[in-house]
Amino acid sequence: MSRLLLTGAACALPGEPGTDGPRIAPAALAIDGDRIVAVLEEGPAGSDFADFEPVDMAGRLILPGLINSHTHAVLLALRGTIEDIEGNLVYQYMVPVSYLLTPDERAAIARLACAEAIRSGTTTLVDPLRHVADYAPAMADSGLRLWLAESCADAVTTEVGKGTYRFDRDFGQTFLDRTEALIERFHGSENDRVRVMAAAHGPDNCSPWMLGEVTKLAHRHGLRRTIHLSQIISEKTQVEALHGCTSTEYLERNGFLDDDLLAVHWTFCTESDVATLAERGVHFIHSPASMSAKGPHPAPVKAIQEAGINIALGSDNMTEDMFQSMKTALVLHRGAWGRSVRPSPGRVFDYATVNAAKALDRPDLGRIAVGAKADLAMIDLTQATMAPTVSAISNLVHYGHPGLVTDTMVDGRFLMRDRRLTTIDEPAAVEAAQAATRSMWAKFEAEGHDAPLPRFDALPSGASA
Ligand SMILES: [Zn+2]
Repeated sequence: MSRLLLTGAACALPGEPGTDGPRIAPAALAIDGDRIVAVLEEGPAGSDFADFEPVDMAGRLILPGLINSHTHAVLLALRGTIEDIEGNLVYQYMVPVSYLLTPDERAAIARLACAEAIRSGTTTLVDPLRHVADYAPAMADSGLRLWLAESCADAVTTEVGKGTYRFDRDFGQTFLDRTEALIERFHGSENDRVRVMAAAHGPDNCSPWMLGEVTKLAHRHGLRRTIHLSQIISEKTQVEALHGCTSTEYLERNGFLDDDLLAVHWTFCTESDVATLAERGVHFIHSPASMSAKGPHPAPVKAIQEAGINIALGSDNMTEDMFQSMKTALVLHRGAWGRSVRPSPGRVFDYATVNAAKALDRPDLGRIAVGAKADLAMIDLTQATMAPTVSAISNLVHYGHPGLVTDTMVDGRFLMRDRRLTTIDEPAAVEAAQAATRSMWAKFEAEGHDAPLPRFDALPSGASA
């Protein structure tokens, strides 16, 4: 286990109680193994840390690593395509693609996603999808902190795109069995860096039986739970037709809403739904960037903020860039109040750090403090984007981008050092993901889905596989 002393940097330290965002101050950080053991605002005294390896961080700002509370690494394969296609993207593209990739293709694309996450200063990913065991080892090898989940549904999701909701317990049981297998193999592995979450895909494709099984499984193993909630219009219509209520009311009737639940999207939630979700302590995971690709996401953000609900952020699809998420959240959440300066950049930064840690029930994440995990991201304060620096957090939330990140650390281990990835061969990962994506679209075309196909750009050899 290494012992490091990071010196010369400014650090984003926990803010005063009642204030938004971190407080920036010069400090040295002593890291013993996977945890921060000292935060030295006066600098290291005498020989207290003589046996720690000094690491010069002059000119850098050390942040708590960003937490992406909802993503689907493998769906990065759809980047640059479905953002610009109309239709029911979940069932026309995402669901079919989640089934047709080979295990190697899934791993190749997941590895690319991890590379992008590390480059954007992200240290934690929460990732529910299908066939997770195929790519969990590739993601675990990246060194990132993970919550992985097999997304459970007992409506035969492959048929929903054709307009049919057929519920089948054997189909649903497959995902529960896979979750159990994931727990056995990965939960708590890698020094507890990899955990498993229990995921119900959505209220439209989960029967009361499925919801109950997911909750039982979570309680049996002490897992957090997640679900897409009021994501798309077809979900809303289906839940109304089947159960005569909103998605939130359906989950409430089935005892699914509780403070261990990370519920994502809330697009069509009513104010009454928001009141119920607040009462149950459900966490709002917002994916403002992906959901706003075709116009501002209409989730009732003002009511959510006023209800005091814990808000965290996800990138969801086609990117792992949490700067984009923070920037879009700021614009969108301010828009919910008319033209406004609330929330502050500090509060939005909290969404991507301490609030996410709260949703994950991990007070040792999302902050730089003694006893916290050494999950950190270093920002280059000498780059033009960060100058002039009056409020670094304001600069980062309004204008930040992955190119500012010099180093990313998880559990005290550098996953990127001086802009070089240490756990992933990036050129090889890019090439393999490109090949996997070409293969995926060829299979998608061969399967004859009733959905438009993208056209690949012509690139010089070496720029595409
Ligand atoms: Zn999602």
